[in-house]
Amino acid sequence: MQATLVIKNIGTLVTLKGENAPRKGKLQGEIGEIENGVIAIRDDRIIHVGSGELPDVIDVTGAQIIDAGGKVVTPGLIDCHTHLVHGGSRENELAMKLDGKGYLEILASGGGIHSTARATEKASFQELYEKAYKSLDIMKSFGITTVEGKSGYGIGSFQTEIKQMEVAKKLNEDHPLRVISTFMGAHAIPMEYKDDSDKFVDIMLNEMLPKVVEMDLAKFCDVFCEEGVFSIDQSRRILLKAKELGLVPKIHADEIVSLGGAELSAEVGAISAEHLVGASEQGIKDMAKAGVVAVLLPGTSFNLGKKEPAKARLMIEEGVPVALSTDYNPGSCPTENLQFIMTLASLHLRMKPSEVITAVTMNAAAALGIEKEVGSIQVGKKADIAIFDIPNIDYMIYHFGINHNYITIKDGKIIYKK
Ligand SMILES: [Zn+2]
Repeated sequence: MQATLVIKNIGTLVTLKGENAPRKGKLQGEIGEIENGVIAIRDDRIIHVGSGELPDVIDVTGAQIIDAGGKVVTPGLIDCHTHLVHGGSRENELAMKLDGKGYLEILASGGGIHSTARATEKASFQELYEKAYKSLDIMKSFGITTVEGKSGYGIGSFQTEIKQMEVAKKLNEDHPLRVISTFMGAHAIPMEYKDDSDKFVDIMLNEMLPKVVEMDLAKFCDVFCEEGVFSIDQSRRILLKAKELGLVPKIHADEIVSLGGAELSAEVGAISAEHLVGASEQGIKDMAKAGVVAVLLPGTSFNLGKKEPAKARLMIEEGVPVALSTDYNPGSCPTENLQFIMTLASLHLRMKPSEVITAVTMNAAAALGIEKEVGSIQVGKKADIAIFDIPNIDYMIYHFGINHNYITIKDGKIIYKK
């Protein structure tokens, strides 16, 4: 069999081998390490994973050879929760935050998400495209190969929502990273519906959701279920309608107030529930039973100065598969650095390095429904791979704030090299 790319002399090859399924409980920390590893790739697929030398059946004539020089190789990292496409930035809120103003307080004064909405509405397609393209380049340099991106800065302006999703679609076509799109029209209550938010939900159900499906702009539908935003009942209505139309439900649940969003994610059969800082024990049990992936976003808690972390240990104990993501957005978490988030997860969520690796590979893939294609290094899967210039996995978490990535490979091609 002819190889087109070979990676040899791998110090530690993290395969995540096993079932192409989310990893829960003890399995969350089992990452299938191989010492002195070697990988052979043909076009965009992995054709061999092993130790030492390649078997004779693999023909390396003309193949590109990467000598990893004892470095660590993992599946390409997956950032499964971002607000990738948006206009503007909100560094002006830093001083307000230092004065003790909270997220909901800044929101109520017309700042926060509403200022991003205005900037996103004002920005042209090209401006949004170029800004997000730059972010994808940064992500690529950090070893990320797949990114989820949400709309949600239209806040009542459906045209802006469509513009965001069309930018994401174009980026998926043009940029080497894969961009998977989520419709999040229910991100905040538009000012004009402040006193009648049910009316806005009706518009969402009857006009926006059918149009998004008709235009084929998104795979997922997400809702910000939170006090002062969308209630449990409203979130349920939106997600069930989305599901009926063929979109896969996701939910921003129990981020600030413990509303019962985790319970709702299980009830509506969401693929994932995100944030979950205030998730109840019952909600966590419900998620485990329904197989909902928990997407935890410790960078957001860090940036908002929240002391209380999400209950990652309890989730793992109860058998909820845990994924991690940046939540990259201009307000609550303006960073593309998933490696830094991995350190925060270890320090604040008490997740072990091996559990963290699973959370940004296989479990992040599962949160996007692509665990059969990517998320592990196994024969037949897509050759999405990252090579890190580190002596072992723990080192990546321990030596924080910098970029350890050396090479990023997407679909069997080198798309970034330090
Ligand atoms: Zn978010």
